[in-house]
Amino acid sequence: MPTIFFRFNRCNIQPKCYYCDTEFSENNIKSFEEFNKKIITIVKNNIIRQICFTGGEPLLFIEHIKSILNFLHEMINYYYPIVEIETNGLLPLPECSEILNCYEVCYIITPKLEKMNRYRNVFINEQFEQRRIIFKFMVHSDIGQLLFDLTQIQVFREFNMVGQYPFYLSPINDSTDVQSIINNYTLLLQNMNELYRDICNDLFFLNTNRFLGLSIQLHKVLEMK
Ligand code: SF4
Repeated sequence: MPTIFFRFNRCNIQPKCYYCDTEFSENNIKSFEEFNKKIITIVKNNIIRQICFTGGEPLLFIEHIKSILNFLHEMINYYYPIVEIETNGLLPLPECSEILNCYEVCYIITPKLEKMNRYRNVFINEQFEQRRIIFKFMVHSDIGQLLFDLTQIQVFREFNMVGQYPFYLSPINDSTDVQSIINNYTLLLQNMNELYRDICNDLFFLNTNRFLGLSIQLHKVLEMK
């Protein structure tokens, strides 16, 4: 789906995850006028169906997100793309607001399994239950580590009582080299097939309609920033 990405450059997780690909550099936006002009040009010249706010941790910038959505709403008032907000899930989801209600907002939550105990009780509240939520879990391609990750995911979903939400698996890439990324995806697919064949009854959650499939970072294969 044609999507505009807004990538924010700060995160609430320190030290950063070892597979993090965000460049935590200074903003290169000179002014909001210039920034807004750029958005309008992109939106008017392309058929954009979706806007994705990613990071870093976009929920640290929720007021900026609302301003961008407000701006789009005022400038092109017939224009309502789907809005995705990617988050590590450690900050509370924003309260309903007039501008967020204008859009179909979906929160894509990528929990950090290595920080499992920080998630205790964060998903049990009204804000969470009333939102559209999809989980995305990062997994390794190597079969031994993949099996460990899948077991952790199963524990995470049960322990946090989020088994009812749909989820993707997304491969962790150790390299930015395109061929290595493609090899990594191929290996993950092969290993997923092998696990399905051999032990899928043990990993029952992969057999449910909650599992949406693999989410791959196509922009990296296409060498787009
Ligand atoms: S939560 Fe995301 S943005 Fe933050 S350090 Fe980890 S991978 Fe990077």
